[in-house]
Amino acid sequence: MADIAANVARVQARIADAAARAGRRPGDVRLIAVTKTVDPGRIREAASCGLREFGENRVQEARDKVPAVPGATWHLIGHLQRNKAKEALRLFAMIQSVDSRALAEEVSRRAAATQARIDVLIEVNISGETAKHGVAPEDAEALARDVAELGGVRLCGLMAMAPLVEDAEDTRPYFRRLRELRDRIRDAHPEAGVRELSMGMSNDFEVAVEEGATMVRVGRALFA
Ligand SMILES: *Cc1c(COP(=O)(O)O)cnc(C)c1O
Repeated sequence: MADIAANVARVQARIADAAARAGRRPGDVRLIAVTKTVDPGRIREAASCGLREFGENRVQEARDKVPAVPGATWHLIGHLQRNKAKEALRLFAMIQSVDSRALAEEVSRRAAATQARIDVLIEVNISGETAKHGVAPEDAEALARDVAELGGVRLCGLMAMAPLVEDAEDTRPYFRRLRELRDRIRDAHPEAGVRELSMGMSNDFEVAVEEGATMVRVGRALFA
């Protein structure tokens, strides 16, 4: 059984070191603990170590976990089907995986129906791998323009996964590209407050922090 407290401390220290190397403050980076396949007891243990933000890939899995961890904030980080948008709004504070206009419109329509506005990120397929979700980088700015106009969503930034590589250093150009894309979208929509960069996982979160991640999504390094 993983020693979750030790893992949390180790990951937080590595985030702080990476932030310091880049001249950033550790508080500028939020640790999102990814709980896919992790049972509620271990999620509560992580919460008792001070973690407050959790990421789940699937609406179905979140259904049981969200009520089991009082006071936590949940992020949807996996692909969302339009017919699950309504339930996703009930469970998650942020949807990080918006990758089409149709999905953004459905989420916005459902949120607006309850006079709410939900935080969203646009997921970008920076690796270009066909098996990955996300909008193509060259289409991200057009999608951002559409999303920024919707009344039921708040466009907060971008999310991406780097390709799986042997040397984490090789992810750096991908993270840099996502940051540049975020900067262009932020400058094009100053009123939207586009600031978040959700990038970096267990294999590569330090490189992501050095390149400007504001959220890292870490699973195995905490729970495995
Ligand atoms: C599983 C997953 C993570 C965490 O990956 P680890 O390698 O376990 O840290 C982060 N983001 C997404 C979208 C995931 O599916």
